Amino acid sequence: MTATLFINAHLFDPAQGLDELGQVRVEEGKIAAIGPQLPVEGADVVDLRGQLLTPGWIDIHTHVFTAVGDFCLPADEVGIQSGVTTVVDAGTSGTLTFPAFRETAAQTAQTRVYALIDPSLLYIATSDFIAHRLGFAVDPKNQDLDRARAVIEAHRQVIVGFKARPTVKLGEIESPTLTSALILAEEYQLPIMIHLGRFPMDGVLDPSDLLDRLRPGDIVTHTYQPRFGLFDAEGSLLPAARRALERGVLLDVGHSGSDFSFNTARLGLDQGIRPHTISTDLNIFNTEIVVDLATTMSKFLALGMTLAEVIQAVTATAARAIQKSDQLGSLQVGQEADLTMAELVEEEAELTDGRGGTLSVNQMLKVRGVCRAGQFRKIDHTPYALPHSKSDLEIRQLAWVGAEHVNEEIP
Ligand SMILES: [Zn+2]
Repeated sequence: MTATLFINAHLFDPAQGLDELGQVRVEEGKIAAIGPQLPVEGADVVDLRGQLLTPGWIDIHTHVFTAVGDFCLPADEVGIQSGVTTVVDAGTSGTLTFPAFRETAAQTAQTRVYALIDPSLLYIATSDFIAHRLGFAVDPKNQDLDRARAVIEAHRQVIVGFKARPTVKLGEIESPTLTSALILAEEYQLPIMIHLGRFPMDGVLDPSDLLDRLRPGDIVTHTYQPRFGLFDAEGSLLPAARRALERGVLLDVGHSGSDFSFNTARLGLDQGIRPHTISTDLNIFNTEIVVDLATTMSKFLALGMTLAEVIQAVTATAARAIQKSDQLGSLQVGQEADLTMAELVEEEAELTDGRGGTLSVNQMLKVRGVCRAGQFRKIDHTPYALPHSKSDLEIRQLAWVGAEHVNEEIP
């Protein structure tokens, strides 16, 4: 029997109201017991004095299909090496490449990997936006619902919903990807994550038209996208966004390098528009800006959310968003032992939003350890330095060459 006993931990699980010193015993990969004083027999003891022990963190917007998308990062770098036990790949793969995604990205990672699948036959997330450059992201011939159904049914353990980039051929008002996603999401009772913002070469649906089509449980990512998002030119929440929120549409941060600004986040938070989930959208364009999930959470602490709110946004609410509340997102005896250990450190830092905005913070959330299915590892680099940074602007400028039909500056 393999067992680990975590002692002197600050057990912190806001969804359950758990906020106290205690111990957790892990056996055979599962949470065996939680309490003030547990038996030590047969267990390795790990002292977590000064650290929070929370349910394993879930990042619901990542890109980890490195075998095909040069835009992606390895799942374990975004995942367990950054203190994140579950990552959700957000539409890096369409249906044709999904079996390869599962074999190369999901099954080889120690991190738990789920996917929001792009319902198109082919979608490939590359640094030159090839799906848009070659036009297949908006081509109705790229949709095949029967093929999509076969893939969903074969990979239902990994697929937790759909990602739809609501792109349209210029001048048209129907997005083939969104149409397919809406049909399939209804059939399988799964959520759709919608990207707010632009793509090179293609148009996108107007946010107001888009938001009215979303159903309860669907997820809007890039909530604080500054220019093509939920707020009008005066900074007020769009009426369609208000209606969507009232229907139960969820708001996700999806930080990224260009689809988030501190100003828009402040504007939203001032109007009570809080994110339900906090995610990174980490990819090669933004590792220096986003850094990791802990840093993204630190930004929202500095913007005024409480520690309980930011932890809940990457645990219980994130689990609910991907319909995994029965397995993930809270400290429950009997569940797989996915845990994150972190510390709130007094530290002055100047953080960036990728759009020229800066935010002075005086405390940072730092990951100290992670336990994935009972396997504990200490994390002593804080924050984990993702080694794949490339020159963001250079790549992005290259990507937008040829985008003359979209009369927009580089996003
Ligand atoms: Zn993304």
